[in-house]
Amino acid sequence: MRLILLGPPGSGKGTQAQRLVQKHGIVQLSTGEMLRAAVAAGTPVGLQAKDIMAAGGLVPDEIVVGIISDRIDEPDAKKGFILDGFPRTVPQAEALDELLKKKHLKLDAVVELRVNESALLDRVEKRAGETRARGEEVRADDTPEVLTKRLASYRSQTEPLIHYYSERRKLLTVDGMMTIEHVTREINRILEALGATEPRAARRAAPAKRSGSGTARKGTKAPGRKAAAKAKGTSKGTKEATTSARKARKTVSKAAKARGVGKAKKTVRQAAKRPAKKLTKKRAKR
Ligand code: AMP
Repeated sequence: MRLILLGPPGSGKGTQAQRLVQKHGIVQLSTGEMLRAAVAAGTPVGLQAKDIMAAGGLVPDEIVVGIISDRIDEPDAKKGFILDGFPRTVPQAEALDELLKKKHLKLDAVVELRVNESALLDRVEKRAGETRARGEEVRADDTPEVLTKRLASYRSQTEPLIHYYSERRKLLTVDGMMTIEHVTREINRILEALGATEPRAARRAAPAKRSGSGTARKGTKAPGRKAAAKAKGTSKGTKEATTSARKARKTVSKAAKARGVGKAKKTVRQAAKRPAKKLTKKRAKR
C-alpha cells in the first residue's frame, strides 16, 4: 500500500501514519522527521534546512525529493509506505509522480485530513505540552508565531495539491476533527473499500481503474463493493457486503460533494466482473 497523508500542521498526519504503520506493516516516510534528524546530525542537508525550518519556511523541493527518492529504494519500503509531509508543493507532487513511474510503483490514494484551522493552534500547543511532559525537547517550529507561518505556507503551497490529486482521482477526504480512533477507523474503511488493503497479487489479477477527471465517488463504487465483501468473507452482492460498500461510498461521496467536482467513470473492474445481462439491466434503470 502506498499512501499520501495530506493536511495542515496539527491535523494528525503523524498520529494516523503511526497507526497505519502498525496495522498494515508499512513504513512512515516523514520528510519533517528526516530533516530534523539531518539537522540534529549536522549533515550538509541539515545545515541547509535548519534555519528554513526554524522560520517555518519550506526546504527547497530538490532536497526533499532527493531524500524521498532514496528512502523509497530502501528494503523496508518495499512492502509499502505512507508519505507524511511530502509532497508539499505541486512541483514536489510532479516529481513524485515521475519518480514513482520510474520505479514502476503505483500510488493507491491520497488521504486528506480536513480540520478547522481554529483548532490547530490548540492541537500544536497540546503536542508541545505532551513532548515537554515526556522530558523531550519541543520542536523549534511548534510555537504560535511559526505555526501561523507554516499555516500560511500550507494554504498557498500545499493546498493546491487537493485539486491536483482530486483531478487525478486519488483524493479521499476524511473529517480530521473526529476523535483519533474515529479518524483511523474511517481511513481504514476507505482503504478497504478501495481495495488498497488487498494483497498485491490479488490486485494485479483484478486491477481497478481510476482514470479521467472527476471525483472518487463512482471510481470507488466497484472496488468498495468487492473489497467489502472480501473483508467480511461474504460473497459479492450479499446484504452485509452491500451495506458496507454503501457506507464507504457515502463517505467518499460526501467528500466529493463538498468539493463540488464532477462525476467519474465506472471502473473497469466493475464492468469486467459483472455479467453482461446484469450490466444492461442496471444501465437501463439509470
Ligand atoms: P513537518 O514535521 O512535516 O511539520 O515538517 C517540519 C518542517 O520541515 C516544515 O515546516 C518544513 O520546514 C520542513 N519540511 C518537511 N517536509 C517538507 C517538504 N516536503 N518540503 C519542504 N519542506 C519540508
